[in-house]
Amino acid sequence: MMQAEIKLPQKVQQIIEALESGGYEAYAVGGCIRDSLLGRKPEDWDITTSAKPEEVKNIFNRTVDTGIQHGTVTVLLGNEGFEVTTYRIDGKYEDGRHPREVVFTPNLKEDLKRRDFTVNAMAYSEKEGLIDLFDGAGDLKRGIIRCVGDAKERFREDALRMMRGVRFGAQLGFSMEENTKEAIRELAGTLSKISAERIQTELVKLAVSDHPEEVRTLYETGLTAVFLPEFDAMMDTEQRNPHHRYTVGEHTMAAMAQVRGEKVLRLAMLFHDVAKPVCITTDEEGIHHFHGHPKVGKEMTRKILRRLKFDNDTVQRVCTLVAGHDDNPPVTLRNVRRAMVRIGVEAFPDIFEIKRADILAQSSYRRQEKLDYLKAYEACYREIIKSRQCLSIKELSVNGRDLMELGIPAGPGLGEVLSRLLELVIEEPERNTREYLLQMAKEYSIL
Ligand code: ATP
Ligand code: MG
Repeated sequence: MMQAEIKLPQKVQQIIEALESGGYEAYAVGGCIRDSLLGRKPEDWDITTSAKPEEVKNIFNRTVDTGIQHGTVTVLLGNEGFEVTTYRIDGKYEDGRHPREVVFTPNLKEDLKRRDFTVNAMAYSEKEGLIDLFDGAGDLKRGIIRCVGDAKERFREDALRMMRGVRFGAQLGFSMEENTKEAIRELAGTLSKISAERIQTELVKLAVSDHPEEVRTLYETGLTAVFLPEFDAMMDTEQRNPHHRYTVGEHTMAAMAQVRGEKVLRLAMLFHDVAKPVCITTDEEGIHHFHGHPKVGKEMTRKILRRLKFDNDTVQRVCTLVAGHDDNPPVTLRNVRRAMVRIGVEAFPDIFEIKRADILAQSSYRRQEKLDYLKAYEACYREIIKSRQCLSIKELSVNGRDLMELGIPAGPGLGEVLSRLLELVIEEPERNTREYLLQMAKEYSIL
C-alpha cells in the first residue's frame, strides 16, 4: 500500500476514547484523514461523533460553544482546542449558501454523505479503522477531485464548493474529475451568491499553493468571469512583442509560479499586468506596447482587492509592488536609495523577487541582459544596507527637538522641514551631519 499510515495525535485519541467510553461513536474526519493518507501533516484534527453537543459538553471539563447551532463544540485539552461536531445532515439549501437547518443523525454514513469531495469524506478511528464509503482513498491515489454524489446537486446546495474543488486541486496537484468539472462549467454563474470574503479565502489558498497556475481552471470553468473578469481579459490579451511569448494571462500564471508561496507576492504577481488589456497599443510595425500599465494596474488592483474585501495592509502592500514592478532606474546609489524610500525599505527586497519572476516568465529575448541588470540593482541595494545609509527621518543626525531649539514650532511645518532634510540626505549621504542640516533647517524656517 502506497498510502501512509494514519497516526492520531495522542490528544485526538484521548478525545475519541472518552466519547467511546461514554457509549458514543467518534472518529477523526475530513481534511486530517486526507492529509495523513498523503503523508502530509494535517493542520488541524476534526472529530465527528454520534454524541449531541450537550452530551459532548458533559464528557469534557473544558469546552467552548464555537458553533453549537451547527453541532460544533471545541474541546480544550492543555493549550489546544479540537472541534468536535455531531453527525449531521444539512437540511434543504434554499439560497445556494446555507442549509436552512441542520439535523443531527445517529448515522456516520449520513454525515459523510453531506461532505463535499470524496477525499474529504473519510473517517478513521483506531477501533474501527478507515471508513471510506466513496472511494476517497482511490481518488487520492489517482489524484482526482470528485464530488460525493451528484456534482450538480452538490454545487447547487453550496456554490462555494466549486471554488473549494479547484483550490484542493491546486493544493494537492490533483485534476478534477470530468463530471465535477462539467458541473462547475454549468453552474459557475451561481458563485455570485457567495460572499466576497469566502471567495477571497479560497482564492488566497489557491494562490499560495504549489499550483497557482490552477487559476487557469477557475478561468476555464467560468469562475473568474464571476468574481475576477479582469483575469479573463488578461487571458484574451496577446502580447505581440519580442519580450513576450505568452498571452498576458499565461505570462501571469508563469510568473506566479516563480515567486514563493506567500500571499502578498503571489497576489502581486497575479495583478502585476492586470492593466495590460486596457493599456494596449499597436505601433506601425504591429508591435504591442503597454505604456503606463503599472500605474493603471495599481489602481485596478486596489479596486479589485477592495471588492474582494482584502484588509488595507494587504491592499497597500500588493499595490506598491504592482506599481513598482516595472521600474528600471539606471543603477546608481542615489537612484536605488530613492527607489527604496518610494517603495519602503521593508518591501524593497520583494521587488527583486517580483522582477526576477517577471523576467523568467517572459521570452528569452535579452533575458541575460535583464538578469544582469537585476543583479547589479540588487548589489547596489546590498551596498546601501551594508553601509547603513540614511533612508528615514529617524536616521537623520538631527531630530525634531534640535529644530525646536532653533525656534521652529512643533507641528506639521516641523515635519515638513524634516522631510526636506531627508531628501537632501537621500541625494547625498555625506550631508547627514548636524552642522549642515541645522544650517539648512535655519534657511528653510526663514522661508
Ligand atoms: P482546509 O482546512 O485545508 O481548508 P479541510 O478539508 O480541513 O481543508 P475545512 O474547510 O476545514 O476543510 O472543512 C473540514 C471538512 O468539512 C472538510 O474536509 C469537508 O469534509 C467538510 N466541509 C467543509 N466545507 C464544506 C462544504 N462547503 N461543503 C461540504 N463539506 C464541507
Ligand atoms: Mg480544516
